[in-house]
Amino acid sequence: MEIRSVTFRGSFLKASTRPKEWFPHIAVAGRSNVGKSSLLNWLFRHNLAKVAKAPGKTRTLNFFLVNRNLYMVDLPGYGYAKVARRLRDQWGRELGSYLNHEERLAGVVTLIDVRHGPSVLDMELQSFLVESGLNRLVVLTKGDKVGRSKRRQMQEQIQKQLGIPSRPLVTSVTSGEGRRELLDAIAVMADSWKEPQQETAHGTEEEKRTG
Ligand code: GDP
Repeated sequence: MEIRSVTFRGSFLKASTRPKEWFPHIAVAGRSNVGKSSLLNWLFRHNLAKVAKAPGKTRTLNFFLVNRNLYMVDLPGYGYAKVARRLRDQWGRELGSYLNHEERLAGVVTLIDVRHGPSVLDMELQSFLVESGLNRLVVLTKGDKVGRSKRRQMQEQIQKQLGIPSRPLVTSVTSGEGRRELLDAIAVMADSWKEPQQETAHGTEEEKRTG
């Protein structure tokens, strides 16, 4: 996949306020400092992801429209811990509701620092995704910070820990490694998403007409 255009469409949480278009969503999750904003900016080749860090935006989902046919959704750094803890507060419920009920959600990309491996929260998110039957893609960030043998060891260890079928992709915004592979994997997840049939599709047509 090439990125031909990207626009920041806003920060939303509640289903009623999310963008109305019936395009697949690819959510991106990761604890803060994992390199999420850097990675989004690097993928987009624009400094758009800084908005995600603006005060007041840290508990919302940030929507980026890519190629006018796909939403990349920047999930907040920590919120999913609350999801895993049984949706205790309003915020956790809203995020849980997004992950569990958003029909346009085609998959979740989880970023993990290649040097540190998954945290407890990362493990909780992975279990949550498996239980929910959501597509998941694990990406190891900051690949330039480790040597070849350490990287290989971390890839194998994390693959086992998370029970994923293949070795996780490694990226580096410094060396440029992994960009094409990540975009291609995102395209595969987006393509695997099928617009729900019948009544939902009707609702969507309605929404498209009314804006
Ligand atoms: P966020 O909190 O997950 O959005 O993380 P940031 O994107 O702000 O990155 C956290 C720190 O990691 C910053 O100092 C980045 O410059 C650095 N960083 C992010 N990605 C990479 C990478 O691929 N390589 C290196 N060497 N540093 C990175």
